[in-house]
Amino acid sequence: MRLLIVEDDADLRTSLAQRLRAAGFAVDEAADAAEGQYYATEFDIALAIVDLGLPDRSGTELSETLRADGRTLPILILTARDHWQDKVAGLNAGADDYVVKPFNIDELQARIQALLRRSAGHAQPVLTHGPL
Ligand code: CA
Repeated sequence: MRLLIVEDDADLRTSLAQRLRAAGFAVDEAADAAEGQYYATEFDIALAIVDLGLPDRSGTELSETLRADGRTLPILILTARDHWQDKVAGLNAGADDYVVKPFNIDELQARIQALLRRSAGHAQPVLTHGPL
């Protein structure tokens, strides 16, 4: 299972990636929205963890772009901002969940597992061409 972390804070990104790798995930790391968009578009990413405050574009804009491109992967927004307006904007942009920093790693991991379980249930649209 391949996860993507889009986060410009290198320390946080690295420690989170290490933790998720230890939990058995393959993890790609992106330092800005452009790199994140590249990974999410070119590779089979099961879930993206996206920081809101990125150097080139906001995580909200990145989520909007991915949804506009037809990407259905679960997106978990990670941010220091805890205003309800930011949460609403993130969720309206197509994010599936929202975790405010500083976060508990066990809670984050539980939310990731929950999103993956949910997306496994209705992940691929099934196109069946049976005999008519
Ligand atoms: Ca940031």
